[in-house]
Amino acid sequence: MKAVVYKGPRSIAVDQVDDAKIEHPCDVLVRITTTNICGSDLHMYEGRTSFETGRVFGHENLGQVIEVGPAVSKVKVGEYVVLPFNVACGFCKNCERQLSNYCLTMQPNPKFAGAAYGFADMGPYQGGQAELLRVPYGDYNCLRLGEDAAEKQTDYVMLADIFPTGWHATEMAEVYPGDSVVIYGAGPVGLMAAYSATLKSAGRVMVVDRHPDRLKLAESIGAIPIDYSQADPVQQVLDLTMGLGADAGCECVGYQAHDPSGEEHGEMTLNNLIASVRFTGRIGVVGVYVPQDPGAKDELAKQGKFPLDYGLMWFKGQKMGTGQCPVKKYNRALRDLVAAGKAKPSFVVSHEIALDEAPTAYENFDKREDGWTKVAMHPST
Ligand code: NAD
Ligand code: ZN
Repeated sequence: MKAVVYKGPRSIAVDQVDDAKIEHPCDVLVRITTTNICGSDLHMYEGRTSFETGRVFGHENLGQVIEVGPAVSKVKVGEYVVLPFNVACGFCKNCERQLSNYCLTMQPNPKFAGAAYGFADMGPYQGGQAELLRVPYGDYNCLRLGEDAAEKQTDYVMLADIFPTGWHATEMAEVYPGDSVVIYGAGPVGLMAAYSATLKSAGRVMVVDRHPDRLKLAESIGAIPIDYSQADPVQQVLDLTMGLGADAGCECVGYQAHDPSGEEHGEMTLNNLIASVRFTGRIGVVGVYVPQDPGAKDELAKQGKFPLDYGLMWFKGQKMGTGQCPVKKYNRALRDLVAAGKAKPSFVVSHEIALDEAPTAYENFDKREDGWTKVAMHPST
């Protein structure tokens, strides 16, 4: 089968690799019809993780079931399914508590928890930027779609990751109707957080970034764009909230946060959130941070350490939630919003391409080229 293979920093190729196949009685085999490039792929693409060369990318996957293992009882051949990026068992201590993001069974490293397709440090599972994908524990991991699946693929594929992840940011930030919410990052995840806040009837939703195309998309869903390259974003949020700060904040950038000149300061958005969220406000951090980052310029950042304004955070009585999204906790409800026509997360998609065009798409998305907000690839139809 054809697949997007990692060759080294900023180098990928669409190669022939061994076909994915059923390896365990509970597996499901899916022919991938839509798979996205994610901001998380870029950390690996840039060589800023331990992702091994030769591995296949892709954790935002949707497709049609072509084979099921003998122990699969719910999922049927021919159905369209969307797969949470988390690979989980469904029966461990964490999965039982809806924490499929920290599954203890599927992560082979006993010092870690949680697994994902085509991801650094998240187990051996190949990604779905390929013609075929093996889905372990298929009955648990597949979310089945209805008759509108093929036609609404670019909406439903967002249930694999960014729509639930944006929603999760607003859950950790405890967004209530009427709340003012500030979101750092107008990439696909930040846009989904802004969209989720809007679906939850937030009052004022403010989105911080410096890319005009991304800020324009935020504005298109009713959010207030804040360009941090023009003026201090914290002051802009304070000015919009009578000096109090926002009720809730979402971090959707991660450890490669940078100033307008492009210099990285991993702690920048965290400290901006602490400063621009009110006393007793809540903060949800879904942007990725890593325990080691040998590619960082800064000595502390190399060890995954960031100078956090913890004194101010404590003094303000703020609460912060962190980590990967437990996609299964939300994907069914969000699917039903899409099915009912109440949510259309595909508004972030800027490019739909064939798998062969992956190298150019990665390059453009990595450079945040104007107009490259989200790429959906179609390995098969
Ligand atoms: P992206 O890289 O396309 O978007 C990040 C955006 O942040 C960019 O538009 C960039 O201009 C902006 N940015 C950079 N520095 C900033 C700053 N100082 N202030 C404000 N904005 C700034 O990526 P994405 O796909 O939107 O993903 C965002 C983050 O979420 C990544 O770290 C990704 O790995 C992570 N992620 C986490 C989960 C999870 O489960 N927790 C799931 C998916 C993605
Ligand atoms: Zn993703």
